[in-house]
Amino acid sequence: MEEKKKIMFIINPISGVYKKKNIPEKIARYIDYVKYDYTIRFTQYAGHATLIAQQAVAEGYHVCVAVGGDGSINEVAQSLIGTETALGVIPYGSGNGFATHLKIPPRDAEGALKVLNTGKVVKIDLIKSNIRYVVSNAGFGIDSSVARRFHHHAIRGLASYAWAVVKELLLYFKPFEAKVEIDDVVLEKEFFLFTAFNSNQYGYDYAVFPFTSMKDGVMDVIVMNRFPVWKLFYIVACLMLKRADLIKEAESYRAKRIKIHGSKKMVYQFDGDSVIWHDDVIFEAVPQCINMIVPEGLNSY
Ligand SMILES: [Mg+2]
Repeated sequence: MEEKKKIMFIINPISGVYKKKNIPEKIARYIDYVKYDYTIRFTQYAGHATLIAQQAVAEGYHVCVAVGGDGSINEVAQSLIGTETALGVIPYGSGNGFATHLKIPPRDAEGALKVLNTGKVVKIDLIKSNIRYVVSNAGFGIDSSVARRFHHHAIRGLASYAWAVVKELLLYFKPFEAKVEIDDVVLEKEFFLFTAFNSNQYGYDYAVFPFTSMKDGVMDVIVMNRFPVWKLFYIVACLMLKRADLIKEAESYRAKRIKIHGSKKMVYQFDGDSVIWHDDVIFEAVPQCINMIVPEGLNSY
């Protein structure tokens, strides 16, 4: 008889707009008892998931599952990098960019548990920074301003996120003056948006690039220069069609290393969570550094 694998589910009971109350019941119902011995842990404060995942690694767990959005996955992933313990996901956030890239169904515990039961383990890239690792995307600009002003978890769905962006643009937003080095390219100007992607997703099934890969060892980067507000809908439409090339204010890059020079006014978003940081920020693509459970049939990711 094959030995059972130890799997731990880490649930943040309070964060997020989607109720996770019945998740333990769904785990009990749909987990494969032949394959797994499971444990459920609840987090009690921000950052607790990182500590719990670290303990799981020390205790020899084979799989650690983040139940939540990109922010929760980020917290769990920090402790699994470079270890044998695989990351699993039951996506219950608002945007779910990371899971959507990997074709793990959002807000569908049964579907996500099926991936854990029948899926395969692959190695994927992450973005390393001097602050923390990034699983989906990070950067600064209009999105980091929105993340700071409107509590990330209070935004439910694409429409309310879009509304928050429009309000931010019209009422508050000032472009970021920054100096950024993208490999050998140096940009020093006003940025509306700067995002480095590991996944192809902002979330809400909203991808900017057609072919972003989590196993190619490079980040995909989008830069938006100043644009008039009336062009917003044209720009959003182009981005939704994954045609950033049609926007004259947009530039895209592929990079292994990025340096954002420090300045007093910088506010970042890391996987949707806002981070204030005034020193330099370095992003580096780290190839295939974490084990991840993905659907059995997933080949392009
Ligand atoms: Mg990549």
